[in-house]
Amino acid sequence: MSILVVGSVALDTVETPFGKVSDVLGGSAIYFSAAASLFTDVKLVAVVGTDFPLEQLDFLRERGVDLTGLQVADGQTFRWSGRYDYDLNVTHTLDTQLNVFADFHPDLPSGFANADTLFLANIDPTLQFEVLQQVKQARLTMMDTMNFWIQGQREALSRTIESVDIVTMNESELRMFAGASSLLTGARRVRELGPKALVIKQGEYGAVMFDESGYFVAPAYPLEEVRDPTGAGDSFAGGFLGYLDKVGKLTPQTIRQAIILGSVVASYTVGQFSLEALRSLTTDAIMKRYEEFRNFTLVEPV
Ligand code: AMP
Repeated sequence: MSILVVGSVALDTVETPFGKVSDVLGGSAIYFSAAASLFTDVKLVAVVGTDFPLEQLDFLRERGVDLTGLQVADGQTFRWSGRYDYDLNVTHTLDTQLNVFADFHPDLPSGFANADTLFLANIDPTLQFEVLQQVKQARLTMMDTMNFWIQGQREALSRTIESVDIVTMNESELRMFAGASSLLTGARRVRELGPKALVIKQGEYGAVMFDESGYFVAPAYPLEEVRDPTGAGDSFAGGFLGYLDKVGKLTPQTIRQAIILGSVVASYTVGQFSLEALRSLTTDAIMKRYEEFRNFTLVEPV
């Protein structure tokens, strides 16, 4: 089993009430790969500039992530800069510099198109669609997006949404995309476009999944120390889809397990800045929090 991910590889500058980091490793494809590689084989397709410190990806290589689809192009690496206040659920984007992403076209190395699962991480929806066209026989396809693309590339985004099995968004992004304040209405509108399921991320409040059987609600793992929420969504997606690719079957049960595993991985990501927590995360630590999750969400019949 394997997952192909296309998304951003970035140098992030992030400020939260607990500290500030500049030009550190980030990007949707990186957070996703670091999380998904704890469960299954990952192949990454993205671009960086000649200024990118490639040795920072050694930990992914050691975890078996196939980086042959990472192009190094003339120019500067994609840069994103953001700030969070005490309400860590709200991201304030200060700057987005596409740089080498402006001229990027995903070129899949041989064998990459045969991946069982495809994750279109947050990136220009036109590029997401280009990859989708090349990976025709994936058993499961999922995509993420954000307000930047909902506002700037709505038509291209809708075309990608129409063509995938699972969509994930933040709740504010769902409201913006669907033009509805009710999450139920928003989820119905997205599912009417084609996707079988929609996973809505709610930051420190958890995640909700809508599909034909109804919905499933999972809280977030309770934490006293959240230092940097950057990458929570991508690492949630990595745990979620990494597990589904590993078990190779999509049932209401595996989807629920995947949502909790995604939440567990994200709970580690946000405890430290950048990729620090994900670098050293182990499956044992994940399973320990998974068991805690089972205990604090179990309700006995009355
Ligand atoms: P998340 O916090 O999970 O939504 O994702 C944060 C990551 O997304 C950061 O590491 C950023 O580098 C990356 N990112 C932010 N804006 C964009 C964008 N417009 N396109 C692609 N990636 C982005």
